[in-house]
Amino acid sequence: MHEPSVKDDDAVEAFLLARRQRLLGASYRLFYRRPFHPVRGEGVWLFDRHGTAHLDAYNNVACVGHCHPKVVEAIATQAATLNTHTRYLHETILDCAERLIDSLPAPLEQLVFTCSGSEANDLALRMARAFTGGEGLIVTELAYHGVTQAIAEASPSLGSKVKLGTRVRTVPAPVNRGDGAAAMGARFADGVQAAIDDLAAHGIRPAALLLDSIFSSDGIVTDPVGFLAPAVETIRRAGGLYIADEVQAGLGRTGVLWGFPRHGVRADLVTLGKPLGNGHPVAGVVGRRDVMDHFGETARYFNTFGGNPVACAAALAVQSVIAEEDLVAQAAAVGADLHAALRQLAATTSRLGAVRGSGLLAGVEVLDADGAPDAALAQALVDGLRERQVLISATGPQANVLKIRPPLVFTRMHVERLCEVLEETLSDALDE
Ligand code: PMP
Repeated sequence: MHEPSVKDDDAVEAFLLARRQRLLGASYRLFYRRPFHPVRGEGVWLFDRHGTAHLDAYNNVACVGHCHPKVVEAIATQAATLNTHTRYLHETILDCAERLIDSLPAPLEQLVFTCSGSEANDLALRMARAFTGGEGLIVTELAYHGVTQAIAEASPSLGSKVKLGTRVRTVPAPVNRGDGAAAMGARFADGVQAAIDDLAAHGIRPAALLLDSIFSSDGIVTDPVGFLAPAVETIRRAGGLYIADEVQAGLGRTGVLWGFPRHGVRADLVTLGKPLGNGHPVAGVVGRRDVMDHFGETARYFNTFGGNPVACAAALAVQSVIAEEDLVAQAAAVGADLHAALRQLAATTSRLGAVRGSGLLAGVEVLDADGAPDAALAQALVDGLRERQVLISATGPQANVLKIRPPLVFTRMHVERLCEVLEETLSDALDE
């Protein structure tokens, strides 16, 4: 079907919306009351069809910036040379695996490539079940880990109509009550122990505790560092593995390269995805050699597109750019400015509460006049920012936490712009 020659924005939008609904169906969701239609990206900017620049403060996938020329070139060059799969020998696949493994702490020694974070979590779960002989999986109450059958059943943030698996148990996400990492960690670990006990009462041994290292869909919980340690000890004592889901946290987001080592814990399996290819599909599981050996003895694994030479060229280029442009340090420094600026703004109004997160990841609570979570105002801010060409989103159990998670190439200038526009949008929203 050809797009009609309509000039009017509303008509183009209505046409695309109807076409999308007809072709893609009901399971897809769009961001924003007035959907956004970008046609080009560059660095932290997304441009609409009129060439108007929108500041991207949300897309963590394009971690080194939209359409980074080095990543584009690496993909194009490899695609023009050879694109096969992991059943042939190929240096780029090994270089990419080696670089990732070397960047992760012991005892993580081997990597299996997948196409998506969901597949990585699904595979990690299979590995943990095979290794431990247990079946139980523990996740947080509002976790999101992906879309396969096994992982959707362990992603309660998909809503109550997606039933939890019979072998899945949830624990309340960690809550910072200001009493320190040890007390926060102990409370969280009590929840993990209760889940283990409930599994046992149903005759199920635990295979794994699977945690997003930044608890993104639970409303963003990153600090104080160290709170993860008691929960990890608890699952290990019960014979289960700790799987660190680094799909969100990985590759510099929090101002350090990986999220879980911030908490001083070791992971048995780590899952990677999202930012790894800067938009090209590449993901994987990094794990202990004994866990991977055990899995490999019982099952073979082949993923047609996972870790193909083009995917690995993209992931290698992303890692090179992060190193060359010192983006982890930039995420830490600019992130510190972002948090300071957001806290300063929150101090001027009772409608913004706690500011959580680390590095270029920030969650800002939005409150009503009585100090209760205000999802409607959060949504009004997200939509209002979009109308002022700044893109963010909202998250959390009450959908009242502004989620700010820009490409790592975000600078102080962008922080200033974001905070100015947020202040203006809030003041307008409260005037209405
Ligand atoms: N884990 C986490 C923490 C995620 O945020 C996501 C994606 N939002 C996934 C896993 C699934 O990744 P993918 O969409 O690549 O399957």
